[in-house]
Order: sequence, then C-alpha cells, then structure tokens
Amino acid sequence: MALVVQKYGGSSVADAEGVKRVAQRIVATKKAGNDVVVVVSAMGDTTDELIDLAEQVSPLPPGRELDMLLTAGERISMALLAMAIANLGHEARSFTGSQAGVITDGSHGKARIIDVTPGRIRSALDEGAIAIVAGFQGVSQNSKDITTLGRGGSDTTAVALAAALSADVCEIYTDVDGVFTADPRIVPTARQIPRISYEEMLEMAACGAKILHLRCVEYARRYAIPIHVRSSFSQREGTRVIESIEGTDMEQAIISGVAHDRSEAKITVVGVPDKVGEAATIFTVLADAEINLDMIVQNVSAASTGRTDISFTLPATDGQTAMSALNKVKERIGFESLRYDDRIGKVSLIGAGMRSHPGVTAKFFSAIAEAGVNIEMISTSEIRISVVVDGDDVDAAVASAHRAFDLDAEQVEAVVYGGTGR
Ligand code: ADP
Ligand code: ASP
Ligand code: MG
Repeated sequence: MALVVQKYGGSSVADAEGVKRVAQRIVATKKAGNDVVVVVSAMGDTTDELIDLAEQVSPLPPGRELDMLLTAGERISMALLAMAIANLGHEARSFTGSQAGVITDGSHGKARIIDVTPGRIRSALDEGAIAIVAGFQGVSQNSKDITTLGRGGSDTTAVALAAALSADVCEIYTDVDGVFTADPRIVPTARQIPRISYEEMLEMAACGAKILHLRCVEYARRYAIPIHVRSSFSQREGTRVIESIEGTDMEQAIISGVAHDRSEAKITVVGVPDKVGEAATIFTVLADAEINLDMIVQNVSAASTGRTDISFTLPATDGQTAMSALNKVKERIGFESLRYDDRIGKVSLIGAGMRSHPGVTAKFFSAIAEAGVNIEMISTSEIRISVVVDGDDVDAAVASAHRAFDLDAEQVEAVVYGGTGR
C-alpha cells in the first residue's frame, strides 16, 4: 500500500461541481489501494477576495488578524471536500494546519515551517479515513497564533506533510497539464515539460513561475520528495520534478523555459553620498525590516556630485514597509530622495545547459531588443538570466525569448482548464 499526498489548488475546487469532481478523483485513488492525504487550497479567488475585503476596512491590516482571516478560505474548502467524499461513501476527516501539526515561526504572512507533527493525520489514516488538510497555514510555535505561509503556500504544506509522513509521492493538481516552457496563459505555444530537475524548477519558481511555490521545491529537494504536477481536469501524465534527468531517456535541454514575475517593485535611493558604509547601512535597515531583496544595482557615481543611485527590487507587498524604513534613516544616510515603481516586470531565461553554452545571454538580449523592449536591470546566475522591464512589456518579451530559443510547440498543446490567472 502506498501513501499518496495530493494537493488541489483553488481553481480545481472553484465551485461545488469542482469539489465533487475532485472528491471522485480522491476516492478513486483510495479505491486503488492507497492511503490518501489531501491538501486543499481556498476555493477559486477566495484568498484575493478576502484580502480585498481586509483592505476595505484597514489600509494596513495587522498581520495576525489578516492570517486569521485568510486561513478561513481553506477551512471552507476542506470541510466541503470532506462532505463530498462522505457523500461518495468514504470517510474523510478535515484538519486545520494547526490540527495537522504544521508548526511555523511567528512571521505572519510569510511563516516558515519549522516542524511537522502529523499525529492526528496518522491516526486518521490508521483508522481507514482520508485526511483532508487545509493548505497554506500553520500555528506559531511561540505565540500559538495562526500563521500563513505566503501566497501559493499550499504546495509547501503538501510537500512538508509528504516528508513528515514519508509519503511515496506528492501530487500537485492544478489547472494546466504540468510545468510548461512558459506560462501557457501568456504563451499559448508553450510546451509541456515531462521531467524537470529540482535545480531548474527552483529557478523557475524563484523567477515567478507560480505553478509551484518556491519553498515547496526547496523542501522537496531537501527531503528527496518526488513531485508530480498535473491537471485535476484531465488524465494527462503531467510533469515529474526529480533530482536529475541524467540516466533517464531525456536529453538535457539547453533552456528549460522562460518565467515572468509581476509581483515585484523597484525602489531607487537617489543621491547616496559615495562613501564607505552607505550601502551597508541601507541594506541593514532593510534586513532589520525582514525584507527579502532580489536584484541590486548601484550606478557609477557622478564625479561632479560625488553621489550615486542605488536601485533594488523587492516583493511589492513589502514596498510600503521598505519605503517607511528607509525614510526614517534619510537624514542619517543623507540621500536625496526615494523613487518607487511597482509597474515593473521581471523576465527570466532558465536552463542548466546554459553553463556549457556560450552565447545564450547575447541571444536573450537580442530577443528582448527585437520585441522593442527596454531593459532596466540585469542579473544572472549559473543557470539563469533575468531582466527587469516595464510591466506592460512583459508578455512581448516572454514571447520573443520563447521563440528565439525554439521553445514554441508546432501545434498548440497547452490547455488552461480553469482559474482566472489572478
Ligand atoms: P493552483 O490554484 O492550482 O495552485 P496556480 O494559479 O497557483 O494554481 O498555478 C497554476 C498557474 O501557474 C497556471 O494556471 C499558469 O497560469 C501559471 N504558470 C506560470 N508559469 C507556468 C509554467 N511555466 N508552467 C505552467 N503553468 C505556469
Ligand atoms: N489560498 C492561498 C493563496 O491563494 C494558498 C494557495 O492557494 O496555495 O495564495
Ligand atoms: Mg498555486
């Protein structure tokens, strides 16, 4: 008997019909002789709607209360799913993240899992029941307050439970047939990738390909949990995320895909005095505010003024916090002003084969130029090149890079079964 962890995203359980369809799929897995643990997200766009609601009553809702509100979304879907399964004649028990033993740190809105103690899930399985767990939530070890893991975090709940329960596989069910060479919502000719390494999937997720939550891939890699991404709307095989595709019948592609991210903002600290220690002070202030930075660029200082500009990107959701933290040290550092721009997008090219193929960067930049798009910032790693562009140019830049690296499928094979792309 195998232990299977299945995660169903919001678009798979968007309405009562969806919940019933997913329940059928779960029961089929159980009937095939498996123990089944299910992680479920909030229905459709519930989480976004709850955030909108919170913002209507307060421009900056307290983190503790926002987490309490958002976790309600997953509570609704887990209970409905358990009812739908009961209606098919099987026992299902739903559990909140806290009941399932998902213990986190106390960082509201982006809590990290520090331990998983799934005693109640084990007991449910031992008694022959299907366990349904609310995704994206846990309980803080110290304060005992309810926390959330960050947007898209149900994927991470699933992998963390799979690791704690020594599951045989973690299946992530969503609204497309697996991982594609680009987001099929903006590149209809994107190709489905049958197998991808953790390393490449990590870069894709880090660069905004929201098909998998970044921390879910990190966790899976650390605990060697095989992930199987597929659609809950079809029977297609999907994508397997594995250690390495060496030793399989697949040839290593030079480029695995193009990812994009519209969730970041850019802050420019204008007129920073060009002297030792200024960058250290700026970035210490941001680190103390617990802000994760992405790209950083410091311009050459103008000889006439002895001042320079420093720009960096960060999650737009941290924009207000960063601006006020920096404004507080304006006098001390002596910079002139701050500029904030959240109408940016990041486009990234990812591929392990880049290491051994010179010329990839030049070809990527040419493709961006051919699309008539101006590059604002650049950063690279061994297996990735990223550029920041105007938000309105993202789609054109992605499509052009995808074409330039011959990633387009001859016939359109990507199907988007549901979801609003929100
Ligand atoms: P779920 O609600 O199931 O968690 P998400 O919306 O979080 O679904 O993730 C699935 C979406 O990810 C797809 O509908 C697609 O638009 C988007 N996506 C972005 N990049 C990719 C990619 N490279 N391959 C597949 N889907 C992608
Ligand atoms: N419902 C949460 C969100 O929309 C978590 C998830 O879907 O993974 O971000
Ligand atoms: Mg998701």
